This record gives sequence, C-alpha cells and structure tokens, in this order.
Amino acid sequence: MDIVSGHCFCNAVRFEVGGPEKFACFCYCESCQRIAGAPVVAWASYEKQSFRVTRGEIRFYQSSPGVTRGQCADCGSSISYENIKRPGDIDLTSTTLDDPGGPTPRAHIWTQNKPSWMFIGDDLPGYEKNVG
Ligand SMILES: [Zn+2]
Ligand SMILES: [Zn+2]
Repeated sequence: MDIVSGHCFCNAVRFEVGGPEKFACFCYCESCQRIAGAPVVAWASYEKQSFRVTRGEIRFYQSSPGVTRGQCADCGSSISYENIKRPGDIDLTSTTLDDPGGPTPRAHIWTQNKPSWMFIGDDLPGYEKNVG
C-alpha cells in the first residue's frame, strides 16, 4: 500500500491515506458545485480505515442525509466526502492531494448538473446521476 498525502489550501490540515485509489471521478452535483465554488470536483475514493489527519482539524458538515463532507476549519478547502451507503470508503478531493495528478478520473457523474457552457472532451463514461 502506498501512502498518499495531501493538504488544504492554507496548510493547516494535512492528511494521509492508503493508495492507490479504488475509484476516481468528476462530479458535477449541485452540492459539490456550491461547496467547492466550482463547476466540477475531481474525487478519489480510498479505504476509510487508512485515512488519518496528521495536522490540524477537519470540520465536518452534513450536506444531505447520510452524507458528511469535511473542510478545513480555517480556509474552507473541500477535503472529504463520506456516504453511509459506502461505509468503508472515504472520498478525497484530488486537488488537495500533494500529487493532484495521481488519481486519474474514470467517469463523469451527476452530468445533469453540468453547466451548459462546459463540454466534456474525453471518452469516459458519463452518468446523469450517480454511478449505477
Ligand atoms: Zn486550510
Ligand atoms: Zn458531487
């Protein structure tokens, strides 16, 4: 198992997780868009038990029933996503990893919320809502 490390924008939060990722995708859902302030968020999924915060504090927020999102308590960077439907997983924003280019996205999800001015130029599978 590789150790994948990451940090928030202000560096108050640092974390580690065991890699490689189990899955990675682009998400266009409205929650991601509003919380990140961005049209799309790239996520990578890891074993939750391998995740640990090595510095600072993550502030957790229930964004919808069964869904907990974690942000830096200081700068607000979107860091984590946990869903009770996948209790063993934690999803981390690829762009808070020390190597954002590590996990390569394999799908586009929640494309029904994709802004009309944004165009997908790859051949990855797309899902109007969630995968499967
Ligand atoms: Zn921060
Ligand atoms: Zn999303």
